Amino acid sequence: MWSKAMSELEHLIQWVEHARHAVAVYQYVDGKVKTVCVSDGLFEMMHSPDELDKAALIARYATNMYRNTVPEDAARVASEAKRFAQQGGRYEVIYREKVYQRETYSLTHSVGFHYYLEDGTRVAIVVYTCIDEAVSEHQLAEQKSENALRNFLDHSNIAIAIVSQADGELLYCNRPMQRALKPINNFDTGMTLPVYVKGCEDPTMLNYLADIEGRGNQLAHIGGTDAVLRVTAMEWEEQAVYVIESDPWDTLYHNALTGLPNMSWFRYRVSECMRRIRESGGEAVFIYINLYGMRGYNSKFGFSAGDRILKRLAKTLKQVFDGDLICHLSEDHFMVLTQNDNLEGRLSTARNEIRKAAQGKFLAFKAGIYLDPVMAADDQEQYISEAYDRARLACATIKKNGRKAWAYFDGKVADAYEHQLYILDHFQQAMDERWIEVYYQPVYRVDTRQLVGYECLARWRDPESGLISPADFIPILEQHHLIGLLDEYILDTVCRETAARQEKGLGDIPVSFNISRDDFNYGDVFQKVCDTTAKYGVAPHLINIEITESAFSDEPDYIGQQVKRFRKVGFSVWMDDFGSEYSSLGTLQKMDVDLIKLDTRFLQACEEEEKSGGHRAADLLKAVIQLVKALGLSTLCEGVETEAQMALLREYGCEKAQGYFLGRPQPLKKIKII
Ligand code: C2E
Ligand code: MG
Ligand code: MG
Repeated sequence: MWSKAMSELEHLIQWVEHARHAVAVYQYVDGKVKTVCVSDGLFEMMHSPDELDKAALIARYATNMYRNTVPEDAARVASEAKRFAQQGGRYEVIYREKVYQRETYSLTHSVGFHYYLEDGTRVAIVVYTCIDEAVSEHQLAEQKSENALRNFLDHSNIAIAIVSQADGELLYCNRPMQRALKPINNFDTGMTLPVYVKGCEDPTMLNYLADIEGRGNQLAHIGGTDAVLRVTAMEWEEQAVYVIESDPWDTLYHNALTGLPNMSWFRYRVSECMRRIRESGGEAVFIYINLYGMRGYNSKFGFSAGDRILKRLAKTLKQVFDGDLICHLSEDHFMVLTQNDNLEGRLSTARNEIRKAAQGKFLAFKAGIYLDPVMAADDQEQYISEAYDRARLACATIKKNGRKAWAYFDGKVADAYEHQLYILDHFQQAMDERWIEVYYQPVYRVDTRQLVGYECLARWRDPESGLISPADFIPILEQHHLIGLLDEYILDTVCRETAARQEKGLGDIPVSFNISRDDFNYGDVFQKVCDTTAKYGVAPHLINIEITESAFSDEPDYIGQQVKRFRKVGFSVWMDDFGSEYSSLGTLQKMDVDLIKLDTRFLQACEEEEKSGGHRAADLLKAVIQLVKALGLSTLCEGVETEAQMALLREYGCEKAQGYFLGRPQPLKKIKII
């Protein structure tokens, strides 16, 4: 049975390998997507100059699948891929990425489905189309013979019409175009476009087409519908004609779930909408809407319940922002361009609707507002992405559990935005030029005060702004899915420094380093850790892996499997920041880790309470330490700042401690006892 399945898979691989279309076959193994093979077409489209064969492309996919994707699209694609892998159904996304030998981003459309081999093994087959190229490949100018052209017109799913330049006669209109134009008459040769569809005035129509000609894709209002048109002037059957192409995929501009326009459509429409708002004397406003808690809602009540909420939100937005430009960006993110008029009243209405729909379950409507945008005529692309980012950033300032439901983009947010841009723009340079350094913070045994390890923490020593702490760059890297690159860099540095330390005979003190939840989305972290430690000859018992508590509670099964893999080959795994999120004792019990790091806030709470003479926080700390020990796990308390706190930990039986009282994070060369 197995060998039959193998041969069936091999057969599939053989078939895909040499396809001219861009196709890939994936398999979902151990909670990760593994690339089984890529076609010649996909290799040609996606490899980079340094990737000489398919194996190199597949290796990159394993470590960083979305390197060439626009960061704001990468998150959406990753989450759709995950949904597809876990729940099946159809996979379909459109996103921007850099294809081989193109400097600018191209639009890619990918569609996938699952295929079951005879033994039940499931593979996913995904077909990619570079939309820009597909359109230009079909450029009608390349069609040499008349028959080939007619044949192409008849069979194309791109909507195409041909109009005489001399008198506007509609010479040809293929089926997709007939559907798209919603004609008032049946198509027949000899009629003009205005006779065929309502809403085209001759002779303006010809001027209009001439105007669009040569400007690439343009948004047009034709036959009562909005469409994206491309017009080419050419000769056909010995006459000068305009060939009008409309967009090939209806779905290209709409979200399949809510039917709302997507970001591409938003981009097309934005300048026209702003002009309309201004002409009516109004002030344009960008609003970014995010439903907080959607992920938890989905996992508690199921995706169909989540989908119902999203549909309800879409419907509500259509009512509240009637006639405005509304788009569904991805998942639970929406964008609205409207007029500054009773803004908060309208947002309140939308928020109340969502509250009702969620029936008190934790799901919060949050909105970021960017007011009074003034469009610079010359750089529309830049402007839209800035407006989008600003509204989004304003939204990101709203606390998860706070009562506030909206926030405006202001000076403070602007500074944060500038900072974010700086970090993103300089991140690669910061690694290349080693501005990012590893600091080591000592870990001691509480009872004997013996040094038992170091935690490795990243520091960015910037030539312009001085020392930047992780709190000011790690969340940005996480949000933009770049944290994996940082962690690879830190791991490499730590292993190199550990090997050098050992060479000098400076003792076998283990180091721990942090990995973020997001690292697991972009490749096989376990494999990377194994490879890097092996490269420098660092033994696994010298490396502890810290994974935050939130990662465990998000996906206990998957993270649990990864923990097992690490532990099996001798790495210790520590659960970091325990007590900083909504911990579940169940998670604690299920997770097979070696040690629990109690978050700084336990000691902070004790400190604060002491002022008022209370003792509940101290009791809690004691109970948690006992509980963790009862489960057979080691305890480490973070954030020890005083002798008194150290004494408390000794009394409660905590095994290890870390904090400013014992030693601040410092560069390796400043640490004496190693
Ligand atoms: P963490 O892993 O919980 O690291 C402990 C943090 O507590 C460090 O902050 C450390 O400087 C700070 N700390 C240590 N002792 C004390 C104390 O006595 N009092 C107080 N108030 N704080 C103390 P840091 O270095 O700013 O790092 C913050 C977080 O950033 C880390 O929390 C970790 O989650 C993340 N991080 C740092 N470096 C990396 C990295 O290389 N990769 C990843 N993925 N995350 C990192
Ligand atoms: Mg840590
Ligand atoms: Mg911690």
